[in-house]
Amino acid sequence: MPQDPLSAGTLYVVATPIGNLSDLSVRATEVLREVDVIACEDTRTTRPLLAVHGITGKTIALHEHNERDASSKLVEALKAGKSVALVSDAGTPAISDPGALVVAAAHQAGLRVVPIPGANAAIAAYCASGFLAERFVFAGFLPASQGARRKAISALDAECPVILYEAPHRILACVEDLAALLGSDRELVIARELTKKFEEVVRLPLGAAKSWIEAGTHRQQGEFVLVLGPKPTDTQADEGDAERVLRILLEDHSVSDAARIAARLTGGSKNGLYERALAISADLPAIKPRKPR
Ligand code: SAM
Repeated sequence: MPQDPLSAGTLYVVATPIGNLSDLSVRATEVLREVDVIACEDTRTTRPLLAVHGITGKTIALHEHNERDASSKLVEALKAGKSVALVSDAGTPAISDPGALVVAAAHQAGLRVVPIPGANAAIAAYCASGFLAERFVFAGFLPASQGARRKAISALDAECPVILYEAPHRILACVEDLAALLGSDRELVIARELTKKFEEVVRLPLGAAKSWIEAGTHRQQGEFVLVLGPKPTDTQADEGDAERVLRILLEDHSVSDAARIAARLTGGSKNGLYERALAISADLPAIKPRKPR
């Protein structure tokens, strides 16, 4: 049951599942059951969901082509004391989906707006990404044409994770452009078909993303969220350089010689590099230093 009884003249912004129908919350179910009107992005998509939950309320369409007109009508209904639920085809309304216009119109008319939170593909992918960050950017869909997409990628080269939505027929071109512009070492999480039967979430360097997608024809089908890892900080970049230098030196030098030379080349601490070189040579016996000739 909702914590409060349904309020007259209130617009409820209700999240619906992004795949798994069980992700409709108890509160969302109750609100959808009780409201006077359910405004749907596409009534044909929402009615089956309502049917699964035994909800038979009145539905009307509110989509990108009639949003302005439908919003005025809904505001009139709200002013007359009706309660209205707003849903999109999947996930949270007004996030890369219609809804913001009617919400803004409700605020302008002094009406109450109540969010009923639930599924959202961006947040689902982000929480499964494992990027340690205080903040993230949600950039939605990138432009469809390559020129505009490349420009947008260059502009979003953020120092925090960036969440993107992408269509299946552009997923390959998108990861190729990301790798070309941001470098093949940058990390990426590909979250495919979240909450559905064939869900996949992988974290890999951008340079490996194309092969992962090409590994199966199904990997260019379905729905995708990409979470781009943050741009490495200068310290991380320096550590990456030092690691690369050590690995090369360890092919021909002892641990202490590799650490000494790496310290001169990178300006890093000899002790720190010695510890790192020890760990590398222990982890990778195949590249242990050759015996001095
Ligand atoms: N409002 C929705 C939400 O809250 O996530 C997003 C709507 S947007 C029009 C649709 C895009 O969201 C898809 O193209 C895909 O990028 C992403 N998406 C939606 N459902 C998804 C899922 N189950 N798995 C992966 N991505 C999904």
